[in-house]
Amino acid sequence: MSSTLNDLLPRFADFVAERNIDYIQLFNSDFLLDNNAFDECKIMENINEKFQELGAYDRSLLIIDMDSLCGVNISKSESTMGPTTSFSLSNGKLFNFGIHAINTKIQMTETKEIWIALACKNSYLLNIAKQSLNWRKTPKQIEQDNIEEENNTKVKVCKRCNQKYLEVDNKLGACSYHDGFLFQSSKKPELWTPLEDEVEINSIKADPKVNDLGLKYICCLENVTSQGCKKDKHNQYGYNLTNYYDKFVALKKAKK
Ligand SMILES: [Zn+2]
Ligand SMILES: [Zn+2]
Repeated sequence: MSSTLNDLLPRFADFVAERNIDYIQLFNSDFLLDNNAFDECKIMENINEKFQELGAYDRSLLIIDMDSLCGVNISKSESTMGPTTSFSLSNGKLFNFGIHAINTKIQMTETKEIWIALACKNSYLLNIAKQSLNWRKTPKQIEQDNIEEENNTKVKVCKRCNQKYLEVDNKLGACSYHDGFLFQSSKKPELWTPLEDEVEINSIKADPKVNDLGLKYICCLENVTSQGCKKDKHNQYGYNLTNYYDKFVALKKAKK
């Protein structure tokens, strides 16, 4: 369920009436506070106790507020592929313990009705909870997974370094490239000009005598056949050259 707990309460009320539930337990961070469960041992003890309590009733409902219990850290970072957002759990132990307890509890019940509702707003948390519980996938999710699978196993050509790669092997550092333009270092400095025309650059690279032209990359001052000085993942977007004009102008001046 991707909703806040408060939005879900009317639905829980309907469910409780419909199933004739005789015991409800809400499990969230307030519950831990109320029970003075601050350290890990105490928290685990509390969870265990609550799970056991459920078994004492014929029809019970446990509502677990995943967002408040497990918490999700969000970190944003910039890379050459644009801004990326990554998530991590603030309390992975509590998450694992909860999932484990739910799995074992479900297996234990044959005569009693024990309902466990996970309330989860954060989509990252929701996905890992579903995965951990072997949640049945919807046709839409299956389709999405298939697309992702196909994407992962299709051979692609990197728009930056022209190497072939598979998305599954595409790790940080797989792609080496230069992020600066080429210039003719064997000429007099006043005649240096940035080479930025792709067609021209590709025809130069295709020529084995290319080093005779003294072409160097402004980023690292290595020659045109050198391995890239920057590392990243392969990508399908190509890249923008970093602005090295200040360095270029300074270098021209220094060499005069
Ligand atoms: Zn370079
Ligand atoms: Zn690449």
